[in-house]
Amino acid sequence: MKFAASRLDAVQPSASASVSQAAKAAKARGEDVIDLGLGEPDFDTPAHIVEAAHLAALRGETRYPPTHGTAEMRQAVVDKLQRENDLGYALDEVIVSNGAKQVLFNALMATLEPGDEVLMCAPYFGQYKDIVLILGGAPVALECPAENGFRLTPQQLEMAITPKTRWILLNLPSNPAGAVYSGEDLRALGAVLEAHPHVLVLSDEIYEHILFDGRAFLSFAAANPQLKDRTLTVNGVSKAYAMTGWRIGYGAGPKLLIAAMSKVQSQICSGACSVAQAAAAAALNGPQDEVAVFRAAFEARRDLVVERVARIAGLTLDPPGGAFYAFIGCAGLIGAQTPDGKTLEDDTAVTAYLLDDAGIAAVPGSAYELSPFFRISTATSLEVLDVAMDRIAASVAKLKERHDP
Ligand code: PMP
Repeated sequence: MKFAASRLDAVQPSASASVSQAAKAAKARGEDVIDLGLGEPDFDTPAHIVEAAHLAALRGETRYPPTHGTAEMRQAVVDKLQRENDLGYALDEVIVSNGAKQVLFNALMATLEPGDEVLMCAPYFGQYKDIVLILGGAPVALECPAENGFRLTPQQLEMAITPKTRWILLNLPSNPAGAVYSGEDLRALGAVLEAHPHVLVLSDEIYEHILFDGRAFLSFAAANPQLKDRTLTVNGVSKAYAMTGWRIGYGAGPKLLIAAMSKVQSQICSGACSVAQAAAAAALNGPQDEVAVFRAAFEARRDLVVERVARIAGLTLDPPGGAFYAFIGCAGLIGAQTPDGKTLEDDTAVTAYLLDDAGIAAVPGSAYELSPFFRISTATSLEVLDVAMDRIAASVAKLKERHDP
């Protein structure tokens, strides 16, 4: 009996979830595995945020919230976007959902016709492609190589736009590569889009606060005010406030788009958890000290990984500008022989070898549509990362016929 509808046929299970499963299975067999597959902050949600949820529940905020978000949380989003991003939105230009993931889903569900093309910058967050496939759209991957800092160029964008293009998805800074765009880069992309008024822009800014080397964050819509009326700014509290389990994300954009997204949301879930929205409002409105502490910790981890990779022949890594991943080039290992005589044909073979030999779970670049790379999450302690890098170095050193790429 086939249970799944044909629209799911094209969708692969999430690569990072599969890697985590393999890591868990290896752990269950008694193997000593360090799971660097999944990306979520290893910190606890700050206490004042947890307290706000508790108080909201005690106050009786336990009934169905308005579909597009509680008034308190939408106001917190409006204030946040004005204060931090210099973006002015009205309350009916904001929607609160179960994570940024649901914001993305609502937006694409509300707007895609079958066959509509959605441009995405490879390497990209896997969900982008899968939602588009589920909805019968056509994902179009634009290859953004390491040599250009994994950034999309205006020329590439211009070449990729067709009459069927519905969206361009941007991720600032990006998962998995930590790509960062300057104001000039964003304005150059905006200048291309100005000439194509049928294209909508989705700017996923969930890693906004995890930005390194003293960089200041600039939203796409703030860099391109002339495109604000066709830009959806997506953000959430998962990464900045260590709140992945609370499932709160939000989107801000043109009123009619937000209304269409709200229609989708009303059928799926009637809105996001009221108590979690109270917590998220406290996160946005409250003290931001912990955000800075988390950011500094992620930067120190980034530094450790960059420094260690530089000493491993066959691997390459330019310092990621943000987010909490390292997208490590492994061209120098392709074609090398493992101690038991296997040839590493591609980055999936490299990650299988690392799991088997080093006990390190990492996700192959093919999952993000750019090879040969592998992604490790740096959302774990310096001590664990130190051991993990030792083990990667030792396993790579055992390979025969490595070369410097
Ligand atoms: N966008 C990107 C680029 C992400 O990496 C993630 C989480 N991995 C999300 C969106 C979703 O975040 P959430 O649903 O937890 O808000």
